[in-house]
Amino acid sequence: KTTVSKNFIEMIIDKDLAEGTYDHVQTRFPPEPNGYLHIGHAKSILLNSGLAKEYNGKFNLRFDDTNPTKEKTEFVKSITEDVKWLGADFEDRLFFASDYFDQMYEYAVFLIKKGKAFVCDLTAEQIREYRGTLTEPGKESPYRNRSVEENLQLFEEMKNGKYADGEKVLRAKIDMASPNMNMRDPVIYRVAHLTHHNTGDKWCIYPMYDFAHPIEDAIEHITHSICTLEFEDHRPLYDWVVKECEFVMPPKQIEFAKLYLTNVVTGKRYIKKLVEDGVVDGWDDPRLVTISALRRRGFTPESIRMFVDLCGVAKANSSVDYAMLEYCIREDLKLKRSRVMAVLNPIKLIIDNYPEDQMEELDVVNNLENPELGSRTIPFGRELYIEADDFMEEPPKKYFRMFPGNEVRLMNAYFVKCTGCVKDENGNIVEVHGTYDPASKGGNSPDGRKVKGTIHWVAAKTAFHTEVRLYENLVDEEKGKLNEDGTLNFNPNSLTVLKDCVLEPSLKDAKAYDSFQFVRNGFFCVDCKDSEEGKPVFNRIVSLKSSFKL
Ligand code: ATP
Ligand code: MG
Ligand code: MG
Repeated sequence: KTTVSKNFIEMIIDKDLAEGTYDHVQTRFPPEPNGYLHIGHAKSILLNSGLAKEYNGKFNLRFDDTNPTKEKTEFVKSITEDVKWLGADFEDRLFFASDYFDQMYEYAVFLIKKGKAFVCDLTAEQIREYRGTLTEPGKESPYRNRSVEENLQLFEEMKNGKYADGEKVLRAKIDMASPNMNMRDPVIYRVAHLTHHNTGDKWCIYPMYDFAHPIEDAIEHITHSICTLEFEDHRPLYDWVVKECEFVMPPKQIEFAKLYLTNVVTGKRYIKKLVEDGVVDGWDDPRLVTISALRRRGFTPESIRMFVDLCGVAKANSSVDYAMLEYCIREDLKLKRSRVMAVLNPIKLIIDNYPEDQMEELDVVNNLENPELGSRTIPFGRELYIEADDFMEEPPKKYFRMFPGNEVRLMNAYFVKCTGCVKDENGNIVEVHGTYDPASKGGNSPDGRKVKGTIHWVAAKTAFHTEVRLYENLVDEEKGKLNEDGTLNFNPNSLTVLKDCVLEPSLKDAKAYDSFQFVRNGFFCVDCKDSEEGKPVFNRIVSLKSSFKL
């Protein structure tokens, strides 16, 4: 990377390496296993793993599982899968903070011995009262000056289960008058008689995040501990912990702004509610922006990486429009995927001058802009399906598709002139009719005749019939994301299920996660949950057009 394009974190790393503060770069992504990862986490994952790669360093995946109340093994699995899928390479460096509980306990004892930590008997409420306010200094705990021996004994008793939850805590002895509230003798260990998903019932005391996290980082020789802005006020405490625990080459915390997206639901709390209320089909519903949902929808790791790069790394919070993410997936897929024909709202087109029982195979290039994708053959016959809205009996001005008397191009095939339509007793159009020009094979007429409209089609006899789903955003920022009562103002049209779409026969063999451009209709991906062997169901990833401009 050139100097000008470096972000502020790279500048810090450059300086640290130049000055010898560190002799290596080691980063980590430290999720709590309490939910599914979303696009915001992807930013953190790609940032941390990207920096490690850029500086020939290493990247760890570490589960920050020090809080036994809300963690689940189910999430460990999904998070690991998501990080791998994104291409963040943690190799065999998968760690659990709970594996460090013994060491954390030892560091707590070390601090007690240094006179830097004490056991406090105040209740949680009293501790809050004693803490003071932003404008007033706090009051020291009456237990602050217990002897080292007494503290050691009490802390050991806490560990051995002598005390009930909340009866005693271990606090760092820092400064009750500090302007930073986090420095006013923060609690670093609490009693909690809870079963932990990893350590079972071994512990009934658990370290607090602000004490545990810097130690986890230091144990793993992390150099740059990157977190989001809300931890800025905690940095002095982070620095205090690594200093007082006397780590050499201690890690440093760097904060960056969270990624916020407009027109999507990101809050874990809201996503959970949508899942529980059955409004969406699980955590990987394609309308969500969890990583598993994006994967199911057909987003690629490359598109997410492009998105994260475009967002940049900033020190100030801001929101990015979901349309930018759509832009990235279009850019990623446009040259990589075959352009196939699928009719989403089919109506029959009968070519009356095409022989009754004849079928032919037409050669078609897979992607006109990328010859490397090769070609395929598609069947053509007398009966075809076209999109219902590609025919109008009485067209408005500038409508160049099928209407009586008009000639159009059937993509990759022939010119066809519309001769009329057949209606049922209710006046609904059931068939469109036309005649073709055999000389226009391939889509051009030797006499140089021009047509203004080109439409796609699928031969009826060999068509593959399946379900296709179209999506709109779950919420619309302009209409307001929330109702007055705080519930989500959710778009009732966010999902459209088209039960009988007709596709080129080759698509029958598509597998989960395979994606294609359906010409004129967008990019589509095989659903990994609802598809069956020989009967893939398709989800629209994104339409082809957008008002979004870079
Ligand atoms: P919570 O569990 O309280 O909702 P969280 O969403 O931050 O918090 P964590 O599991 O603690 O979940 O997050 C792991 C890492 O991902 C943290 O380092 C956090 O800073 C980062 N992260 C979370 N959300 C975002 C976001 N929107 N943008 C960038 N990074 C994020
Ligand atoms: Mg979390
Ligand atoms: Mg968190």
